Amino acid sequence: MAGPKHSCGIVGIAADADVANALYTALMVIQHRGQESAGISVFDRDTIETVKGDGLVDHAIPKDKLESLKGQIGIGHVRYATTGSKGYINSQPLVVKAAGATIGVAHNGDITNYPQLKEKYMKEGRTFLTDSDSELILKLIAKHRVSQGGPVEAIRAAMGELDGAYALVILINDRLFAVRDPYGFRPLCIGKVGGGYMVVSESTAIDAFRGELVRDLLPGEICEITKTGFKSYPMEGSHPHARCMFEWVYFARPDSVIDGIEVYQVRKNIGKILAREHYVEADLVMPIPDSGRAHAIGYALEAGIPYEEGFMKNRFVGRTFILPEQKLREAAVSNKMIPIKGTVAGKRIVIVDDSIVRGTTLKILVSMLRDAGATEVHVRIGSPPIIAPCYYGVDMKSRDQFVATKLSIDGIRKLIGADSLGYISIDGLVEAIGMPADELCLACTNGKYPTRIDGEEYRF
Ligand code: AMP
Repeated sequence: MAGPKHSCGIVGIAADADVANALYTALMVIQHRGQESAGISVFDRDTIETVKGDGLVDHAIPKDKLESLKGQIGIGHVRYATTGSKGYINSQPLVVKAAGATIGVAHNGDITNYPQLKEKYMKEGRTFLTDSDSELILKLIAKHRVSQGGPVEAIRAAMGELDGAYALVILINDRLFAVRDPYGFRPLCIGKVGGGYMVVSESTAIDAFRGELVRDLLPGEICEITKTGFKSYPMEGSHPHARCMFEWVYFARPDSVIDGIEVYQVRKNIGKILAREHYVEADLVMPIPDSGRAHAIGYALEAGIPYEEGFMKNRFVGRTFILPEQKLREAAVSNKMIPIKGTVAGKRIVIVDDSIVRGTTLKILVSMLRDAGATEVHVRIGSPPIIAPCYYGVDMKSRDQFVATKLSIDGIRKLIGADSLGYISIDGLVEAIGMPADELCLACTNGKYPTRIDGEEYRF
């Protein structure tokens, strides 16, 4: 599919004082949702001013430029993209002047009908500066503002054309809107923070301000956020929901609460269910830090096996997952994680991680544990086998990337060199999240997609 993949983080704040610093702080808290670029836009007197750049928040938004941003209403973005689609041009927020207004948008998710819509509008003579679906969203809102007048009507009309995953924060001049797509793929919640209101991808950012989580946006809901509250424009009629299970399994921070369900608790539940589904006698349970930590705690509790930290992770090494070549990924994994020999030598070990995509991480780490003297290594995985691509914003793009489409479970066990391998079942995962299966998107594990995608099975 054209266009960059991204599962980013977004934030918007309306307050009774300048918001740039608070936006910056919130972006730092949701930095895990994207490390490729970051940006902030605020409305100042009669226009929207933006500071954005490549890299982590503190690199992308230099302090002196941050201080130059004045305004009591604004939005921010951290971007997670694959290797091919980095670059300033695709960093967000995106801002245009159109039909007498300045409009800024920050987007989390992927629009599945982006290629079709882009082609349609290019035929009508519209130009696109980026290969980002967020630009399309911006242009649709601008276009509908001309015909629809009011901002809520314009956003609603744009939503009528868009398919796929989008959590949005939008500035239209000095007004702040938040939108969650009708499926509710990506999280978005509203909180009360000192002097105003915040809308943000993850509730932990509200906690960082010692604020109060008010509620999640409903799927399909538009909210206008002001410094004194927010006004809701819920979606009319019913619509199927498809919240991304991977937010709870891997992507979100454990201290966030999504749609009323705490991420840490879900991961612990997953570990407990894994222990029931795939118990094995062992001397210790350990996580792959940091992604498998809460899952491993749950496993250890349920199995009654001691929990230990058996790997030290170098937190200064960046993401290994997106490196372009297998050799680079392998080298990076072994530089990133070192076993604690005294903990693992002579032990039967259960090691827990959230997911296997290519199998790179585990293949290396299992062999490192053996070199460090582990006598048995049993691998337990907190998501069912990943067998189908994500079109909704998680960087898992093509079937040939997934080891589980090429090998049986025993084949994967052999590849990673484990004594046993157990994945949580789909039913077990649904139970761990505690939401009905038909409210969730499980497409990467069952190949059934909640939106229509060429060549893929439609769920409904
Ligand atoms: P792999 O080594 O290719 O099997 O990837 C699995 C590892 O990468 C696990 O430790 C996951 O925590 C992590 N992971 C899974 N999905 C993603 C993703 N979309 N982006 C970054 N890391 C991921």
